Amino acid sequence: MTSLDTLTARQIAAGIAAGDFTATEVAHAALDAISARDASTQAFLQVSENLALEAAAKTDAARAAGESLPPLAGVPVAFKDNMNLLGTRTTCASRMLETYESAYTATCVQRMLDAGATPLGKLNMDEFAFGSTTDSSAFHPTNNPWDITRVPGGSSGGSAAAVASGQVTLALGSDTGGSIRQPASLCGVVGMKPSYGAVSRYGVVAFGSSLDQAGPLGRSVEDVALAMNALTAGGRDRLDATSQNCAQDHLAHLEDPIEGRAVGIIPALLEAEGLASEVRTAILDAADKLASAGAHIVEVDLPNMASSIAAYYVLAPCEAFSNLARFDGVRYGYQEPRCTTLAEQSSLSRAHGFGPEAKRRQMLGAYLLSSGVYEKYYLAAQKVRTLITADYQRAFAQVDAILMPASPTVAWEHGAISDPAALYLADVFTISNNIAGNCGISVPVCLGADSGLPIGAQLQGPAFADAQLLTFARALERACHMEGIVAPAFAGKGGELA
Ligand code: GLN
Repeated sequence: MTSLDTLTARQIAAGIAAGDFTATEVAHAALDAISARDASTQAFLQVSENLALEAAAKTDAARAAGESLPPLAGVPVAFKDNMNLLGTRTTCASRMLETYESAYTATCVQRMLDAGATPLGKLNMDEFAFGSTTDSSAFHPTNNPWDITRVPGGSSGGSAAAVASGQVTLALGSDTGGSIRQPASLCGVVGMKPSYGAVSRYGVVAFGSSLDQAGPLGRSVEDVALAMNALTAGGRDRLDATSQNCAQDHLAHLEDPIEGRAVGIIPALLEAEGLASEVRTAILDAADKLASAGAHIVEVDLPNMASSIAAYYVLAPCEAFSNLARFDGVRYGYQEPRCTTLAEQSSLSRAHGFGPEAKRRQMLGAYLLSSGVYEKYYLAAQKVRTLITADYQRAFAQVDAILMPASPTVAWEHGAISDPAALYLADVFTISNNIAGNCGISVPVCLGADSGLPIGAQLQGPAFADAQLLTFARALERACHMEGIVAPAFAGKGGELA
């Protein structure tokens, strides 16, 4: 008996190709793991059993016909619920889109399917991706597989929890200000935010269009690299004007030595107020490990990073306000019944369709874009954006990657942080990367010395150096022995391959 928990994406695809098991057996094992585990994690919003079995049957038929199988053949994958997949609802974890049936399939989802992956369903998130706990989902919270009284992080909390608990091998999330990297860190999985433009956002519900990126979460750097191959295969997507041709083999240089390469650390950042000492220790240890692997650790500075939260929480709400205007109950979304005027219908539909954080963001955006205010905040934030981007350019002239935490603390208890501003401040390590359009990845490095909970180290790299970033991530992973771990309470619960 083999458990799905113990197999990498590559091993699943190879096992199917070799006839050790079928894609249908893998799909059943994943469905079985979901039914045994998801009552505790609540990572899924929908399980797409029929789609999974159909895709698996296609893979098995292709094998029977003697065709060579694609790289993710039969690999169980699930998608954040802001990604359209025909045959599922795309709710963004909001009442506003509770009944919205996907009208087409997002490019990033389609590319995973084209690579042979088996789609298991749609994953919980903060409403419209606003947040870092997944508690703002209109439907239910998601629990951290390492301690179900705690948050999995967010906004891609369902994606991180589903992978960490071994319900799927890979998941996709989206990252506007940290929403892949932070939950990956809190759940002990690898989560990559590709460079802005590396992965098409066509069919991913927009939050902040100048910041949004879709990307993969998995239990190893290799699995994430395989997903990056799938996501970039086919090159530029002409359906997303920001998409670039980033097709390449992200596995080709994964095992390259990092000897003699430079990795930056920002000493001042590690003294930041609110940084838990176990996280600080974990990052310093990670730097030592990279040094033992032969990297030069170089002190760098991003002097304007301190302003990144202020800039982001102006830019992101402004863009969200503009993007979410379409949810008016006419073109899209919940429609309030029995209204007498269009204005009343739009206003009541929005009042009852959106939850508190989604309203807060949109009201903030509306205010910040109003005349007289716009110049003072939005334009100022755009200038800060230019400064932050220039800071990174200077730093990346010295180093190939920068090491820092992904989250200032390990996972906290549900409801422990209720002040929205306190949650915003915790985004300090992730946001500047989106502002500059660079790539970033969180790799689990240890269990915290005080809490026993997973801690991720974040590596950031220059725009379009995604494959190089994966090489550093793999070097760190090799030194940390956290690869492939399923949260202990879930390992082995269902998911056996007969
Ligand atoms: N936590 C950040 C926010 O609340 C980032 C969210 C995201 O990346 N989607 O906006």
